[in-house]
Amino acid sequence: MKIFNTLTRKKEEFIPIEPNKVRMYVCGPTVYNYIHIGNARPMIVFDTVRRYFEYKGYEVNYVSNFTDVDDKIINKAIEEGSTSEQVAARFIDECKKDMEALNVRPATTHPLATKEIAGMIDMISTLIEKGHAYAAPDGTVYFSVKSDPEYGKLSHKNIDDLEGGHRDIKVTGENGKRDYLDFVLWKPKKEGEPSWRSPWSDGRPGWHIECSVMAKKYLGDEIDIHAGGEDLIFPHHENEIAQSESANGVGFARYWMHNGFLNIDNKKMSKSLGNFFTVREIGEKYDLQVLRFFMLSAHYRSPLNFSAELMEAAKNSLDRIITCCTMLKEIVDNKREGGIDGASYTSDINEDIIGFVKKFEEAMDDDFNTADAISAIFELVRFANQHSNEIDHVQAKALYDRLSALSGILGIITLQEKEAPDFDIEALIEKRSQAKKDKDFALADKIRDELLEKGIVLKDTREGVKWEWVK
Ligand code: AMP
Ligand code: ZN
Repeated sequence: MKIFNTLTRKKEEFIPIEPNKVRMYVCGPTVYNYIHIGNARPMIVFDTVRRYFEYKGYEVNYVSNFTDVDDKIINKAIEEGSTSEQVAARFIDECKKDMEALNVRPATTHPLATKEIAGMIDMISTLIEKGHAYAAPDGTVYFSVKSDPEYGKLSHKNIDDLEGGHRDIKVTGENGKRDYLDFVLWKPKKEGEPSWRSPWSDGRPGWHIECSVMAKKYLGDEIDIHAGGEDLIFPHHENEIAQSESANGVGFARYWMHNGFLNIDNKKMSKSLGNFFTVREIGEKYDLQVLRFFMLSAHYRSPLNFSAELMEAAKNSLDRIITCCTMLKEIVDNKREGGIDGASYTSDINEDIIGFVKKFEEAMDDDFNTADAISAIFELVRFANQHSNEIDHVQAKALYDRLSALSGILGIITLQEKEAPDFDIEALIEKRSQAKKDKDFALADKIRDELLEKGIVLKDTREGVKWEWVK
């Protein structure tokens, strides 16, 4: 398997630290709102990477954090008159619901920054002892960037460029920061902010230290893969490397993977441009499997443009796979026999199938080229459609099993159908519709959320409200 490594800017053969095991860390969202569709891209992409490793027989230890202390969370809490714990807890919950609807499996561990403060204080202390960090008189602790001769190796920046016009600026001002480039490991609290005791001040950790500490605790000093969106390369991941390698004395992550950005109608997604969509909003218009399929239809490193037309196209493509599955299932269930009066496809269908699987695997082995892997799936679909009148139920079963297995690796379709729920779902849908008519949106949302808790998503479609099990 080959992976494009941001560190070396090359595709490299994947060699795990421990045979058949993958230790993988993916930077998770800051939880102050519903996740947006940009946040969904790394979740979907790296969930697919994980699934493919598992398909190849690796045991994957997959860690992804929730940043649950941050300025944005604190501001949201002030806005709402609640606490940052309440804001974070609520949006972690909401994020998990979105992940489920996107068919993103829960990580092996989802650590929370606020539960790992002791480890952060330990690592910061080690960095101070080793001369890589210093505490300023106001209780801020800084990482000393120039103490790390390799700083800049991930983002391929050199210190001189980073300093730019700031080289001559002496930053020995009021807060005691010694160098323009130094970044915060620990900051003293401001009035009303959540804080923890530390040897330097009552305060809270900087953002970068959290991932270094959680990766070390749950995966070890050295890990195989560290991943996230490309905006994290600098400074977040560069700083993580500096902290971890300076503290632990060994290389941190062997492969650094970064997904490209999702844009909307060729523009950067932003609230001020009014082109900002949460996953929840898209889920009201489309099955979120369509969003997943759409994200995987491009290579994960390419920028991806989101638009209504492209989502429609993705929906149609995904429908073609689903229709093919249904058609094959019918042949399987009707048990059409082969032979002169029945089906007449005489070639060894397993040979055909091996061809599609090989193409799929070649694509995925080449830096997780899901776009080409989807093309291989469509070759299978086309083959099945072309031969639908000739194949018997055993051949149909072989095609069906492989089609669902390959689609399952990408997480794009889930075929197991669940029973109807054991309560009157239609009555609840009616109650919600009535609440909406009465403009009682709080009640309408409450009903929707309660159903989601029970694993049911509601879809407002042109033909009325439909329900389905969360996939
Ligand atoms: P944040 O909560 O901003 O730290 O983002 C969580 C994850 O989503 C990070 O891996 C980001 O790189 C990623 N991300 C944020 N916005 C986008 C976007 N528009 N396209 C792709 N990835 C994004
Ligand atoms: Zn991180």
